[in-house]
Amino acid sequence: MKNKMPLANKVLIALITGIAFGLIAHALFPAQFNDILLKWILTPVGDVFLRGIKMIVVPLVLCSLISGAASIGDIKKLGRVGGKILSYYMITTALAVTIALIIANVINPGIGLNLPLPTEYKAAESPFIMSVFTNMIPTNPIESLVKGDMLQIIIFAILFGVSITLVGEGAKPLLHVINQANEIMIKIIGIVMLTAPFGVFALISKVLIAQGLDVLLPLLKYTFAILLVLLIQVFLVYGTALKVLGKVNPIKFYKKFWTVMVVAFSTSSSNATIPVNMDVCKRKLGVPESISSFTIPLGATVNMDGTAIMQGVAAVFIAQLFGIDLNITQQLLIILTATLASIGTAGVPGAGVVMLAMVLQQIGIPLEGIALILSVDRIIDMCRTVVNITGDAIGTVIVSNSEKELDLEVYHS
Ligand code: ASP
Repeated sequence: MKNKMPLANKVLIALITGIAFGLIAHALFPAQFNDILLKWILTPVGDVFLRGIKMIVVPLVLCSLISGAASIGDIKKLGRVGGKILSYYMITTALAVTIALIIANVINPGIGLNLPLPTEYKAAESPFIMSVFTNMIPTNPIESLVKGDMLQIIIFAILFGVSITLVGEGAKPLLHVINQANEIMIKIIGIVMLTAPFGVFALISKVLIAQGLDVLLPLLKYTFAILLVLLIQVFLVYGTALKVLGKVNPIKFYKKFWTVMVVAFSTSSSNATIPVNMDVCKRKLGVPESISSFTIPLGATVNMDGTAIMQGVAAVFIAQLFGIDLNITQQLLIILTATLASIGTAGVPGAGVVMLAMVLQQIGIPLEGIALILSVDRIIDMCRTVVNITGDAIGTVIVSNSEKELDLEVYHS
């Protein structure tokens, strides 16, 4: 039988049926049956998909970044693209937290509960802000690869690629090999993506079976505030950025990009979404690989607008729960720390809450509040990851067009 349905449609069907199935199972099936379902079918199937994608992340980022940095050839241009994309990433993140704070101060999600302030703060481990920067430089690149430390891998791969260009002719054969390895990685992604419909179904229904919809009820306002800001960021901020800075039609972008959003939503991981994101940027949006191979992994690692939004709203929410009034200075500090925290947040599920500890600690808000928001964080994580990776692609399109390298025919096709 010939199977002609595009993968994207299959993924969408998997998403919808997965949600429906999860809700039905949560409401109707006996708990014991659900346990068996989770243990024997949904968890393994979801894991196969997740592991398949994760398998490819480190080798892909290494090869594609080296070949990207080397293929840009002109070192000055790499510097220019790097400067542009980093400024875009930082500015949009700061803007995202600012909007988050405004909305949180209007909705006031935590007012009225007045929890007693904990007598003792359990100071959770959170990195010192400056070490987020110094830790970017690997002391042992092999160890960074083994640990999958994306920021360190990125720094090393860029230096490696740039140095290939500096060495010149002598290094060409190696570059050729790396380019070939890169193509092979992309083929592997294609194979792994064949399991995406099953993986998406399993991952989505798992969340709904385990938590059901009423888990959202007590924290509805908090969740609502975050979702509202996420929507503002995706459609208003990014849409305007595409139109004004990128000078392209935003609707076209969303029409082509939603498949990547679905993968981000179901995996809750920017890292896991890198391969698909790069693929769509290149094939459907007309971004040259020399730019996307650099900006997408970098963005997945340092640019987390959705995460920063969650941290902004969460900080206000938790402060309000404990009856703490945040003054302007403290709110500005939230913007600064959340923006920096987003650089150090790993693109994996749940990483944002860990970094939230750093933000809260900087402001002096009790970390105990984190326990409360954890119950809804799984679902919010899925949504904010969508925003995280969308911001990366938008920045990539904008920078590509500003470099006159965006294939407008492909973009508008
Ligand atoms: N899951 C998010 C991501 O991968 C990070 C976070 O927890 O906010 O982008």
